[in-house]
Amino acid sequence: MPVESVYPRLEPLLPCVRKPIAYVGGEVNSVVKDWDGTDVRWALLYPDAYEVGLPNQGVQILYEVLNEQDGVLAERTYSVWPDLEALMREHDLPQFTVDAHRPVGAFDVLGVSFSTELGYTNLLTALDLAGIPLHSADRNGADRNGADRNGADRNGADRNGADRNGADRDPADGTWYPLVIAGGHAAFNPEPIADFLDGVVLGDGEEAVLAITAKVRDWKRAGRPGGRDGLLTTLATECHLYVPRFYDVSYLPDGPIARVAPGRPGIPPVVAKHTVMDLDNWQYPSKPIVPVAETVHERYSVEIFRGCTRGCRFCQAGMITRPVRERSITTIGAMVEKGVAATGFQEVGLLSLSSADHSEINEIAKDLADAYEDTNTGLSLPSTRVDAFNVTLADELSRGGRRSGLTFAPEGGSERMRKVINKMVTEEDLIRTVTTAYSSGWRQVKLYFMCGLPTETDEDVLAIAGLARKVIQAGREATGRRDIRCTVSIGGFVPKPHTPFQWAGQCGHEVVDARLRKLGAALRSDPAYGRAIGFRYHDGEPSVIEGLLSRGDRRVGQVILAAWRDGARFDGWSEYFSYPRWAACADEALDGEPVDLAWYTTRERDRDEVLPWDHLDAGLDHDWLWQDWQDALSGAAEVEDCRWTPCYDCGVCPSMGTEIQTGPTGERLPAGTRLLPVLGVS
Ligand code: SF4
Repeated sequence: MPVESVYPRLEPLLPCVRKPIAYVGGEVNSVVKDWDGTDVRWALLYPDAYEVGLPNQGVQILYEVLNEQDGVLAERTYSVWPDLEALMREHDLPQFTVDAHRPVGAFDVLGVSFSTELGYTNLLTALDLAGIPLHSADRNGADRNGADRNGADRNGADRNGADRNGADRDPADGTWYPLVIAGGHAAFNPEPIADFLDGVVLGDGEEAVLAITAKVRDWKRAGRPGGRDGLLTTLATECHLYVPRFYDVSYLPDGPIARVAPGRPGIPPVVAKHTVMDLDNWQYPSKPIVPVAETVHERYSVEIFRGCTRGCRFCQAGMITRPVRERSITTIGAMVEKGVAATGFQEVGLLSLSSADHSEINEIAKDLADAYEDTNTGLSLPSTRVDAFNVTLADELSRGGRRSGLTFAPEGGSERMRKVINKMVTEEDLIRTVTTAYSSGWRQVKLYFMCGLPTETDEDVLAIAGLARKVIQAGREATGRRDIRCTVSIGGFVPKPHTPFQWAGQCGHEVVDARLRKLGAALRSDPAYGRAIGFRYHDGEPSVIEGLLSRGDRRVGQVILAAWRDGARFDGWSEYFSYPRWAACADEALDGEPVDLAWYTTRERDRDEVLPWDHLDAGLDHDWLWQDWQDALSGAAEVEDCRWTPCYDCGVCPSMGTEIQTGPTGERLPAGTRLLPVLGVS
């Protein structure tokens, strides 16, 4: 029986909301498959607004990988803004996909991609609107009308939940709710949301979603042996799926975790991440979805490599995505050709954690710039490496095009600070780099730093003002012009799991805010430079909550639930985020526990403390991480990049059975290649 679209009921509500276009779907390259012609159906949730979620590379890849399979259907769903949420509750409308406007509760699997922990409350909204019980433990039973026994209906949820979905429910499927499976970088410590998830995929998703799909299909065809528990057991034992409720967590009287261990036989004590080894075999996305509304990026992004071994100690993305795996220049060329033709995008982004580090980036830049010369298609390299080579690349890619600005990320204001974080950039490097940039015609340079880093002092932050003045001075001397600009942009540092800084005490928001105020005053104090330097920063409070969610354990789930019930939505958006709400909910929810907000955030951890994510294996050796943390504190030797120096035994390659895959291949894009887009040919 087909699942009906909710669009006829949604459409009358759209004139009453702020961004109706975000909910209509119908984008170029979106896919609508016949419901009855498929037997495994995924809804893919990006827990943020359409304009942020649509360009997400991970969702676009999985959407295509799944829809390419016969008998498999994948549709997208995004967080609805609070104005539509209120109307949906009033009119009894469930969370829907934008592709065919099918109710999310009707799908077999709800895959959720987390880029930031501040999206956790949006997961709860989506589950609640979908009629899916918030707690995974409540999704097993026969009582489909129970919804969230712990009080979801306090927020006005429909207590009849999944019944609204009208899913095709054969008798054996009478109590089915979608498996809620999370992935993405912010799911590498899923413990704070463990109670709300059925499973977690650590690492690369391409192969994992296909393995899960095959098991779901087999299980359905076999008559659903063992019910939901049976399926989850298969996925946990055969697909590296982390199923939180199969693990028991016990705590010491003073707060830390005593032990995390499987609560049933056969479940692995440690769950390893998934790693796709040959990116040339996974050429996705090849037909990205073209948004119908304005989004944060509107370009064809090709991931030129995955992983990073530069060893910046604060960088979770670099640590958890190791080892480096490059795409070959010929695959990159073919992907760009297809992607641009399929979308008509007028910008191509060469994506990775540090794109200038591809072993053939020179050749890629030159050949693509040749291919797109005389077209309206621009090329960009979202790299922030501080060196003159990076400027040369940017020059090549912007050949004949617009030069808006270049971003460099020294991250730390003082040389001492940059040594602590293993960002090997000297002041001379930075001045040389910006001099090259200004001399090459760039007028605007953006410098990115962090505040609140381990061991940081006021002087380290105030050093940023001195650097910015020298940058302007260098630009004026190199060009003889006065219209040189530099913007200083500051983010608050949050210690992340699976990094050497996972043991660090987070800096309190009062300290961060005070340092930023002093820096602002220092930047404005010299009229000769003040107007040439822009200053952008966020206050420190959201970082504290991000810290709580990043390094929290299962007890933090109660805080998330309390904050959500109190109205927390879109916590990554400053206009919605409320620190007083989160602080009050943490106080209330953790009352009676030996832990509080400060315990999770500003407290430094001991070497022997069991961390909430210790049973989740990103491949990094515990002793290596600890030694790197000690080296940071003592200012000992810097860690070089293992792409160009010998392996320093971080543990990833042997423990994951992987290896670094870098070129050069010596290949080039065919001479005379003209990768013309459908649109944008001048
Ligand atoms: S194991 Fe060695 S080669 Fe592999 S990523 Fe770590 S340091 Fe590099």
